[in-house]
Parts: sequence; C-alpha cells; structure tokens
Amino acid sequence: MTTVLAVANQKGGVAKTTTVASLGAALAALGRKVLVVDLDPQGCLTFSLGHNPDRLESSVHEVLTGEVAMREVILPTAEGLSLVPATIDLAGAEAVLLMRPGREFALKRALASLGGDFDTVLIDCPPSLGVLTLNGLTAADAVLVPMQCETLAHRGVGQLLRTVREVKEITNPGLELLGALPTLYDARTTHSRDVLSDVADRYDMPVLAPAIPRTVRFAEATASGATVLAGRKSKGAQAYRELAANLAAHWDTGAALTTFNAAD
Ligand code: ADP
Ligand code: MG
Repeated sequence: MTTVLAVANQKGGVAKTTTVASLGAALAALGRKVLVVDLDPQGCLTFSLGHNPDRLESSVHEVLTGEVAMREVILPTAEGLSLVPATIDLAGAEAVLLMRPGREFALKRALASLGGDFDTVLIDCPPSLGVLTLNGLTAADAVLVPMQCETLAHRGVGQLLRTVREVKEITNPGLELLGALPTLYDARTTHSRDVLSDVADRYDMPVLAPAIPRTVRFAEATASGATVLAGRKSKGAQAYRELAANLAAHWDTGAALTTFNAAD
C-alpha cells in the first residue's frame, strides 16, 4: 500500500521543500521506495535534488494536464529518491485546470496510475492555497504543516486549517491532519518554545517532535544538489531521521506520533 503525505503551508520559507527532500531521503534510507512530487512552479525541490528545471522536456505540468503519463516524467536522484519534477510551465497549470471538471483530482488520478510502485509519496506544495495545493491535499492520505517557530501564531495557519477541513468535506474525506512540524527551531530561545505550546492550544493541532533545528547545513546542502542527509553528521539530518522513524512506525503499526513537549 502506498502512503501519500502532502507537505503544505501557504507561507513561503517555512521549510516545506527542505522537509520533503530530507524526510524523503531519510525514509529511503529506512528501505522504503519513495517518490517526491514537486508541485511548486519555482522548481526548488527539482533543483535541490540535482535536476535543472530549465532543461527538462516534461514535468508534473504535462502530467496534470493529461498530456503525459506520470511514469514518463519520473527522474532518479542521487539519494535513491524518485522525483516528479516541476518547471515554470506549472505556473500555467492553474489556468488550464480551472477549465476542467474534477480539477482537484488530477494528481490523485496520476498517482493511481503508478499502482503500488512506491511505499511513500511526498508532495511539496507551493506557497499558496490555489488549485495545485488543493490537488496535493486531495491526493494525500495525510498532511504535515511545517511552521517556523517565530510565526506559528500567525493568522495564516487558521486559513490553512480551514482549507484542510473543506478538502475533507468535499474532495478527500480520509485526509488526516498529522500536525505541525516546527522548523528553523532555536532551542536556546524560550520564545520558540512558548510559540509551540501556544499553537497546540490555539489551533487544537498536534505539534510533532522532534523540532527541526536551525543549522547552516541546509543551505550548504541545497547549493550542492544533495539533501542534508548526504553530508557530514548534523543535528538537522538527525532530526529528520527521527521524524522518518516515527512516521514509519505510525504507518506500519499505528503507533502514535511523538509530540512536542515544551518542558524538553
Ligand atoms: P519553503 O519550501 O517552505 O518555501 P524551503 O524549504 O525552501 O521553504 O526553506 C527556505 C529556506 O530555509 C531555504 O534557504 C532552506 O535552505 C532554509 N532552511 C530550511 N530548513 C532549515 C533549517 N532547519 N535550518 C536552516 N535553514 C533552513
Ligand atoms: Mg518550497
């Protein structure tokens, strides 16, 4: 059985793309067959996994518009992930899909065409709540919301959770909200911790552990076309490995996910 996880937050710079790449590499290291899907016209995930979006003939855009089968656009990456790449063409998908019936289901249908080829699919949603993110949420079994600790209390979270509730009512009743993933976390400041306990109360949503620490290794990794897991030992890589192990246990045995404890 394939588990599909959407990584979504309409705010940019909260580590959606980093989470998809690093968590994907960590799940692959656990022996799972992992497909990552770039749903952002900026193509940052595609680029960070070593492929130049400007040089690609076809991408997830042609898959969503029905011109090319998903299997035909899948690329290999150095860390054993399979990638459905994005190019800037995807910026036009919104307009093309708007004219189509069942536009929220384009990605779900494309993933169904893969049969059981993958254990886990991770979807990197763009920084908006438009038709692409609706496709990601509609295709997913679960959604994870990366949040930068400084901005956890922002109003945008309420809007995102409202969208998740609407998707559950209209296009995907089975969607599970896994919770918020604290990113760019600085354990030295009490502010980060306060914000985390506040979000759990305010939005009645689990805050997952471990928090992903802020480290310079992520920028170094992106520049080299590899994930942080491929480089030297780092606290960031270790946090994503722990998160991957927690998710794998949750999916395999139904174990509860570890949540954040402000006292830690
Ligand atoms: P999004 O996809 O939500 O826009 P990105 O994953 O592209 O966010 O991350 C935004 C920036 O933050 C990138 O430059 C990335 O390298 C950096 N970044 C992500 N996670 C961390 C981290 N834990 N520590 C330091 N920098 C990070
Ligand atoms: Mg991104």
